[in-house]
This record gives sequence, C-alpha cells and structure tokens, in this order.
Amino acid sequence: MAKRTHEERNRGFYDERAERMDPAERTAFQQKEALRTLQYAHARAPGYRRFLDEKGVDPASIRTIADFARIPVLKKNRMPEYHKADPPFGGFLAVPVESLKRIYVSPGPIHDPEGRQEDYWGLRKCLYNAGFRAGDLVMNTFSHHLTPGGIFLDEACGGIGCVMVPTGVGNTEIQVRTMAALKVNGYLGTASFLTALIGKMEELGYDPARDLTVEIAFVGGEILTASLRSGLQERGILVRQGYITADLGTLAYECPCENGMHLADDRYIEICDPLTGEPLPAGAIGEVVVTNFMSPCYPLVRYGTGDLSVVDPAPCPCGRTSPRLRGILGRADEVTKIRGMFVHPRQVNEAAARFPEQIERARVVVTREGDADVMTVELLLKGGVAATDALRTAVEGRIRETTKLRGTVLFVPEIPAGAKTIDDRRKWD
Ligand SMILES: [Zn+2]
Repeated sequence: MAKRTHEERNRGFYDERAERMDPAERTAFQQKEALRTLQYAHARAPGYRRFLDEKGVDPASIRTIADFARIPVLKKNRMPEYHKADPPFGGFLAVPVESLKRIYVSPGPIHDPEGRQEDYWGLRKCLYNAGFRAGDLVMNTFSHHLTPGGIFLDEACGGIGCVMVPTGVGNTEIQVRTMAALKVNGYLGTASFLTALIGKMEELGYDPARDLTVEIAFVGGEILTASLRSGLQERGILVRQGYITADLGTLAYECPCENGMHLADDRYIEICDPLTGEPLPAGAIGEVVVTNFMSPCYPLVRYGTGDLSVVDPAPCPCGRTSPRLRGILGRADEVTKIRGMFVHPRQVNEAAARFPEQIERARVVVTREGDADVMTVELLLKGGVAATDALRTAVEGRIRETTKLRGTVLFVPEIPAGAKTIDDRRKWD
C-alpha cells in the first residue's frame, strides 16, 4: 500500500463546482429547494400535514423565504412522541415503507428511515474532504447495529473507493492485530478508542513508530478535545470530524484548515432563536434548524436539531465558499435567555472551571427586578477557601467573558444536589 502524504490527502475537492459555488447563488438554490420541500412534505407526509394544521399554517401562504421563516420549527425532541402516536415514523414518511433501503434503530426510541438513492446521507464529501481516498484500507470500529454510525460510514468510505474492514466495537487485541497484519491506513471510530489501540499495540510488543500505519482518522461519538487530537497528530495521523445526525445525514464537515465545519451544500440550514424559531444573523448563537431537501422519503422541514451553534461567514483559506459552523456549543433545550442573550450551562461551568482550586460548584440564578433580568452567580467554595473580594471580582470577570453578561457573585454555604446549573426564577404572568 503506497503511503499518501498529508499534502496529498489535503488536496482537492469532492465536488469542486458545489463547494466553490458563489455563496449568493448557493443560498438562492437552497432556498428554492426548501420552499419546494415544504409543499412536497405537506402533500406527501400526513404527519407533517397534521403538524402544520395544528399550528394553523397554510402552505399555500408560504411563497418567499421570509414567509418560510414563519413555519414553526419541528423539534427533534418531540419526535419520539409523534413516532409513538403514529408508528413507525409519525406520519413523516413520504413514501411507502416497502420502498426504503434500511430502517435504523436509534436511541430514543425512534426509527430512522434510509432511502435508496446513492450516497443518501451526503457523507461521501465529508470523508473525501477529510482526506480519505480510493484504495485506502479503512478499519471501521463504529458499531454496525442498533445505531447507524457503522453502516453510514461503511457506505460512505466504500462509495469513494476505500477497502472496508468492519471490526466494530471492542476486542482491542484482535483490532490491533488486524490493524498491523493488514497495514490499515484509515480509521473510523472514537478518538479515544484509537488512542487506546495504540496503547495496546505497545503492550503487545509492537513498535508504533514502525507498525502503526494509520494515516487518516475520521472520529466521532464524543467531544474531540484538543489533547486527544494532538496526541494522535503527533503520531502522524490526520484527525478529522463532521457534524452528522441519524435523521439528516451530513450537516457540516471539516476541511484541511480544521477551523470549524463547512455547512453542507445540500441542506438548507438556519441558525434560529431556540425559543421563537426566528432566524438569527451570522455570528449569533442559536439552534441549528435544517430543511433536508435531498430526501424524497423523509422530507424534514425546519427541523430543530436541538444543537446550539454559531455560523462564521468569513472566507476559508481552503477555497470552499460555504460558511462554517463553530462546533456544537450545547443543547438548545438547556439555554436560558437573559437580557436578550442566550446562556448555556456549559458557559457557566466553563467559567467556574477556571478556578479549580477554589470553586466546588457554581450556579446561575435568574430573577427579575422591575423590567430587568438579574443574574446572580452562586458559588460554593472548597473547604478552607476564603470568600475574598479578589475572588469575587475574578469570577465576575470570567462570567462576563463567557456569557457577555454582568452577574453578581454570591458566596453560598450550599448548592442543593441535583440543582440546575441555571435556575430561572422569573415569573412571566
Ligand atoms: Zn475550509
């Protein structure tokens, strides 16, 4: 097997015309397709028709993309109840079940349909742009059943000409021996499992400097921390990731610049206010809301993923012209709007984590005084730590940095076990 340099893997586009399209032209195409999909879903998917009727929306009144923004967001976290009420797909399937290629069982419990089009999930561009090439020998350590990950990636890599070695989860020793015997050069799975395989390799008497042949890894299933990534990169492995869901396929993918994830060209993706569904301007944090115009079988319209992110429209040095998502920043159902800004528990925890020696726990309490929101940051200090003004000022500064909001620190003797990180006590009646 010829080794490929990183430069060779980083070169080229999966679909240059689509990836370098003029951004205005791309947006116009996506919006046209989104409007078409609304009419299609209303005509063909009885569950979606019911949803629009309940919300009092007549699709005939939706003619422009400004109208489109008025369509209520279909929240992913409601899908289990819709599916349960009208099994197996809640009436959101637009074709007969008999015409599907696969039905995946996802945790939830929910079922996800797959149609028969080639590259149904739009995953090939994700793997190609990550650096996989035809002829790579790719070990796939994702589970091949009960969750879709293994088969999704098997189809995608196989589709661009890779040779697949489906090894699934666990059996570390067999995996290491397989990797070495076949001189596997591509890896699919979690970054931590690949790290564990390299450790096992040494344990079994292999020399990773000689026997580790993996050049490219596509990882998922966990947060890719900077240290996990750099640990693998130091072994000469390119590590790439994407934003893929079991119901929508590829939403965004990394390019060789590794500075966020390019939005897929073949989905209409909006960043919206998680409470009202109103589209937000570029740079604002909001819920990722997707219209999948590529699926004739499961045409989801303004589907709220529940994931929070931010879009960066700045041009990317790689030459792809689509905007980039700046990672997944949390869950939309956990955000609270304080003085017009969304605050996520993760931001509060991040601020507290900067004081590991002093802070045991922190929570934000939101109250209302007159017409103003008041944010109080309650701090439970570690044993023996003094509640000083210097500490108060430092934490208030850090909270302002992570949330862009001013809060007042209050040292408290106790934070009840099981208390929410953001305790919203405002009354709106
Ligand atoms: Zn790029």
